[in-house]
Amino acid sequence: MAQAKARKKSKSAATAKPAAKKSAKAPAKKAAKKTTAWPQAFQKLIQKYGKEPHPLTYSGPYELLVKVVLSAQTNDAFINKIAPAFLKAYPDFRSIARGTADDLYPYLKGVRNFANKSKWLFAIASKLEESEQIPRTMETLTELPGIGRKSASVLLRELGGTGAGVIVDIHVLRVAPRLGISKQEDAGKMEKEIMAVLPESMWADAGMCISFLGRDVCRPTAPDCGNCVMQKVCEYAARK
Ligand code: SF4
Repeated sequence: MAQAKARKKSKSAATAKPAAKKSAKAPAKKAAKKTTAWPQAFQKLIQKYGKEPHPLTYSGPYELLVKVVLSAQTNDAFINKIAPAFLKAYPDFRSIARGTADDLYPYLKGVRNFANKSKWLFAIASKLEESEQIPRTMETLTELPGIGRKSASVLLRELGGTGAGVIVDIHVLRVAPRLGISKQEDAGKMEKEIMAVLPESMWADAGMCISFLGRDVCRPTAPDCGNCVMQKVCEYAARK
């Protein structure tokens, strides 16, 4: 009887199906979302474009501020072209404050929104004519009419100062979503997202360098990814 039981056990062991091996093709756990080391990636970008002079040419703080106000939604090269006549007639804040906003019109032909820009320049000049000193903090600059965060960041990056953020211009609004660093369409929201993934020491250069990348190789149509220092981390290039 005992022998019969032992035979039965041995038979069932022989016919039992082997435990299923783990299939090599078993689906892996859901792949982790790729995260880009943006500070490292931006070192290359800043290395390439960080020393480029700003497209608005200027010989001093006053000239830069005037050009920054005039260049909103207007081509930098055009502002460089029309500015000499303006600056000859109005070499400092005092000379603007002596007249009226309307007096500036003849010098601003072709400048988009020139009537408002004239008002802003007149108001800034009236405020700063005594000292001829341009404020050097984000807070005080953005209190001036016609100066938003982007303009203030340009001034702080060029002239030095505290609190510069990330410059988000028309080029950055196009290039940042291609890179994948921010998909926001609103400049303020995009600036916040870029600031969140880069150290503060990179903020001032990051926006300007993305802007240079957009002017240079990441053009609106047919971006030249083969000649781009951001190709390895760029979402758009990875989809090509
Ligand atoms: S790799 Fe191509 S799409 Fe991406 S930032 Fe560079 S030029 Fe633009």
